[in-house]
Amino acid sequence: MKTLPAFAPALAGDGPRPGDRDRAAAVRHPIAIERIDPDAVQVLRRLVRAGHVAYLVGGGVRDLLLGRAPKDFDVGTSARPLQVRALFRNCRIIGRRFRLAHVFFRDGKVIEVATFRRDPSSRSEHDEGTGRDLLIRSDNVYGEPHEDAARRDFTINGLFYDIEREQVIDHVGGLLDVQRRLLRTIGDPDVRLREDPVRILRAIKFAARLDLGIDPALYDAMVEHRGQLVRAAPARVLEEILRLLRGGAAHRSVALAWDTGALSVVLPEVASFLDDDAEGASLLWARLGACDRRQRAGRLPSDPVLLLALLSGALEEALHEARDPAAALDGFFEPLVRRLVLPRRMRERIRQVLYAQRRLATGRHAAIAGRDFYDDAVTWFCIEREARGQPVPEWARASPSRDASVRRDATRPAAG
Ligand code: ATP
Ligand code: MG
Repeated sequence: MKTLPAFAPALAGDGPRPGDRDRAAAVRHPIAIERIDPDAVQVLRRLVRAGHVAYLVGGGVRDLLLGRAPKDFDVGTSARPLQVRALFRNCRIIGRRFRLAHVFFRDGKVIEVATFRRDPSSRSEHDEGTGRDLLIRSDNVYGEPHEDAARRDFTINGLFYDIEREQVIDHVGGLLDVQRRLLRTIGDPDVRLREDPVRILRAIKFAARLDLGIDPALYDAMVEHRGQLVRAAPARVLEEILRLLRGGAAHRSVALAWDTGALSVVLPEVASFLDDDAEGASLLWARLGACDRRQRAGRLPSDPVLLLALLSGALEEALHEARDPAAALDGFFEPLVRRLVLPRRMRERIRQVLYAQRRLATGRHAAIAGRDFYDDAVTWFCIEREARGQPVPEWARASPSRDASVRRDATRPAAG
């Protein structure tokens, strides 16, 4: 039998029990079951039938409450990963730092099931002062639902939905923020952004994509701590930049990144281009707008094309009148590779797309039609035409054949 910690007797009597907090935070708020992925519903029901607590969590709940179709349906549960695996045949445990379960369904669909956990950096009273304890901490610190809600970034992302009781479990004041359409951190924005500066880019993404107001204290903290973004892991920063571009609100996202000054930290070349070249800037906004229209039509451009749209103005400036365009291109990318660890294949694809443009402009598209960069080259050709208000030729409108929007978001962090 486990020995109880010294404070346990105080909880044993009439004091709070696990789950009490959830009951106190529950608000009846039915969401039509048809709006929830049937496989996620099945996962939730099976967990509950086995005696576990299980809620829909994170971005899925937020999107449902905002009247949008969620991109994915994540589940939070009191069950440990091995207990989850015991319930589902089609289940794999993933993650080294934090272990969670992936339940697989038809067509490669995955429902992510994560055990409730608390933020390993939020110390409770009894480990205060034990420096050693901090060191051995990993992300694998299981917790109560309210602790799992508190570790999340924004109040609208910290909501849970109980499908059986048709209740939203709100430990963080997120429901009111959904109603007010307001983006607010859970806790002090100064602390939360310093803990993880990538949240600055996430704030921009959510505000732009979901068309939300930003809490003034959060906005101030974004501006104040934007310099900390240089300390964040480059791969995460690049991934968040790509997410800003993929969400159908690239124009609004980049404008907000520019306004807050975050852009001048992560992509100073783009920020100074926007600062200095008003005419070039309006072409850049038009290109990003063209990317957004494609996304809304279900034809999201590939990552290299999106990135090219963002870099295009600064890139053209660097290539303008260059004697050796190849060297100028390498020179342009060099600091980006250092800052963002921009993968080689991404640079290579951007180069191929740019080099193909002259062929496409002179009607020699057939010569490269079989090449693997062809679809990207044609997409960029169309974006460029649209942005400049020029007609798009029929052959270009008919291709590309591939629909890039069906691609999965394969780089989800193990955060949720
Ligand atoms: P999207 O629709 O873009 O996927 P999302 O809210 O689902 O948005 P994810 O990055 O998929 O965002 O993360 C899932 C959940 O994990 C978030 O809703 C949030 O609760 C939590 N989360 C993700 N990143 C962080 C972070 N950096 N700090 C705290 N919580 C985070
Ligand atoms: Mg998500």
